[in-house]
Amino acid sequence: MPLVLPPVEDEVLLARYPFLPQGREHMRGVLESNGISVEDLIDAPWLEDVRSRGRLRLLDSVMHKEGADIATTVDLSTEVGRMTEVLSFLHAMLVVCASFNDRLLARWIEGEASRADQLFGMDSENFELLASSYLSGIRDEAESNSGEVVYWIPMVDFIELCPRISGTYWHLANRPLTNGWVRMDAAVGESSRQRTARLLKERIRENLHTTCTERMDKMSEEFAALFADPVERITGLLSERVEAEMPMTAAVREDWPPCFESAVSELNQGVNVNHVGRVFLAAFSKSVGMSQEQTCSFFANAPDYSADTTSYQVNQIYERDYTPHGCAALKTSARCPVQPGDDRLCDQEWLTHPLKYLRAKQRSRYREVSQAAEEPEVVEDEVESANS
Ligand code: SF4
Repeated sequence: MPLVLPPVEDEVLLARYPFLPQGREHMRGVLESNGISVEDLIDAPWLEDVRSRGRLRLLDSVMHKEGADIATTVDLSTEVGRMTEVLSFLHAMLVVCASFNDRLLARWIEGEASRADQLFGMDSENFELLASSYLSGIRDEAESNSGEVVYWIPMVDFIELCPRISGTYWHLANRPLTNGWVRMDAAVGESSRQRTARLLKERIRENLHTTCTERMDKMSEEFAALFADPVERITGLLSERVEAEMPMTAAVREDWPPCFESAVSELNQGVNVNHVGRVFLAAFSKSVGMSQEQTCSFFANAPDYSADTTSYQVNQIYERDYTPHGCAALKTSARCPVQPGDDRLCDQEWLTHPLKYLRAKQRSRYREVSQAAEEPEVVEDEVESANS
């Protein structure tokens, strides 16, 4: 962060970007000049608009997996509009802090930082001022042929922030560098400003995290309890959302279906697993998100093991995106190890695919109540989407 923050006088800017580090003082000023206490923010009837905008903003940040919506319906040209925007941000932040829920905090910060990334990338008029609030310096240069502005940023900022972003663009070796300044060229359909805004997003995230953690450390249980209702609402919604997004992962071995477990352990013990069993093992591993290396390692003790052949064949299955065999095919090929009565899930009529088994186990563990057998159609839909 810059040692000295550039002053921001424009109230519209401070309302549009209430998370700016310069916004803290302004927020306090808005509360004081309107005679509003934090308690008023919680229940004063005349501030209902602020609270509902805060709830919407929070909901939007938390529920949008790909980043929050940048549109705002608040008119920032009016004083009431600016006050609503600033205080709704404060309200949302207080609800998040009062939840003491790290997952909610991370999600909200991600939503706010993504919104900032998009808005900064579009704000040609104020971009340098905004960037100077998060970077130790910024320079611009007009391209000689196109006249487009290209930004340069200090190498120290780039080095600190780039490891958090994936893609070859963000490797220092791929960026032009002169006298300690890194050139942020336009790339992948984004202008130099948008690329720089992406980097700023990381500082915004960091800055919001520090601010919220400080608030949480200072927040008493009594004060947090004042936000019990909105906290309960948003954490309930977040739980539903997280469950819906729960990735298909086979990280927990107890969730593996018996057919997959037996293929893995037989190979591990040097038992020869037939062709269907091997293809199933690799395709199933891919479907549940295992890496190719992890999958290849399952074959390391096979009696006919060859590292090159295994890696080639596993690669083929990953590239061609094979769908794992269903229960019927596995039974026909002698790769289903269970008999009726051996496994309650495998006995279910709807259990026609090992991925359904895994999903049902994960859901059941997640909810801590076994509902899997009662919801076959939900499981079915999810298996379809996992395969697509
Ligand atoms: S019934 Fe299906 S899921 Fe269960 S072990 Fe057999 S093949 Fe696997």
